[in-house]
Amino acid sequence: MSRTQEIIELDNEYGAHNYHPLPVVLSRAEGPWVWDVEGKRYMDCLSAYSAVNQGHRHPRIVKALKDQVDALDLTSRAFHNDVMGKFLKKLCEYCGFEVALPMNTGAEAVETGIKLARRWGYEKKGIPTDRAEIIVCCENFHGRTTTIVGFSTDPDSYEGYGPATPGFRIIPYDDIKALEEAINENTAGFMVEPIQGEAGVKVPSPGYLENVRKVCTKHNVLMILDEVQTGFCRTGKRFCFMYEDAKPDVLLVGKALGGGLYPVSAALSDWDKMEVFKPGTHGSTFGGNPIGSAVALSALEVLEEERLDERAYELGEYFRRKLESIPTDKIREVRGKGLLLAIELRKEAGPAREYCNRMRELGILAKDTHGQTIRFAPALTITESEIDWAVGVITEAIG
Ligand code: PMP
Repeated sequence: MSRTQEIIELDNEYGAHNYHPLPVVLSRAEGPWVWDVEGKRYMDCLSAYSAVNQGHRHPRIVKALKDQVDALDLTSRAFHNDVMGKFLKKLCEYCGFEVALPMNTGAEAVETGIKLARRWGYEKKGIPTDRAEIIVCCENFHGRTTTIVGFSTDPDSYEGYGPATPGFRIIPYDDIKALEEAINENTAGFMVEPIQGEAGVKVPSPGYLENVRKVCTKHNVLMILDEVQTGFCRTGKRFCFMYEDAKPDVLLVGKALGGGLYPVSAALSDWDKMEVFKPGTHGSTFGGNPIGSAVALSALEVLEEERLDERAYELGEYFRRKLESIPTDKIREVRGKGLLLAIELRKEAGPAREYCNRMRELGILAKDTHGQTIRFAPALTITESEIDWAVGVITEAIG
């Protein structure tokens, strides 16, 4: 039995089967590249669902992690530590908000946004107790907690986990009229992704977010934007909302905030909203811990100093043009922004997973979603010549 098979069998014997990974076992990584246990090199075109925007094992972030491990580990929030404040100041400045609440995973940032909106609804908007509503979109992906999957429209996510938490309304994505119609006097917030990543990189019509902003302002409803996947330069701007005049009231971030090394997430807003949280009303043992804070501070410095927003914008345009010019009739559409791109194959071309397997043989790891779609989200530190190489492989796999 090969080493790869041995390890996969071990995973399958002792690990719950809640994923269906490609049959590759990774043991090393650097920048946009990863290596399997047999020594074969691949370009990582998933980047852990956009959690390694800065590239694998960025030397600066690795150093920040190691230095912090040698100084202070975990304190909990029962005491102050000497790193969290510096991290949150940088995060607030980078994102353009007054205050942040640090958590660990994306789902926890989302839960924080939901709690913030509900409390704000009761305390500031005057919604009667336990009547607050939050509007969300069809095909959303915001995480895996019982509350979050309760408003998912994907049966894989919600089936068998009921009863769902009440207080959510689901409307079609990219439909501003549906939003206006769904709002009532008990609506506290509207939570939306600027591009629906897990739904298959669904990009809304131009002006959608700007109109969402206007409708939320008009009806005194919090606009809660989930940029857990799209944030931190992935789409060619620091945040995807920056393509339009669409600054949200509450911004949810995670993934690349931890530089691929540590789970760090946060909810951001201005003080007039965040002040609804009082001591003891929300928290996390690990949220804002020294190691996560040091890693995230460094991850933000790398995004800023290496201008990864501009890089993702320019290289995204380049990659996209090249994907569009692949000579094949199997591709129905190339879509996305910056370096969050996807190819949707025609039905006749067969399932995307087959093409992902072919690409894997040729040295690219990419993930299929929803049958016909393949997402391409390499490290933002990738070079033009690495993209040329990738397009060669993709052309060979699809052509
Ligand atoms: N929101 C969005 C938009 C996401 O894409 C994800 C993860 N794919 C999450 C939230 C949840 O993040 P996590 O897996 O870190 O809980």
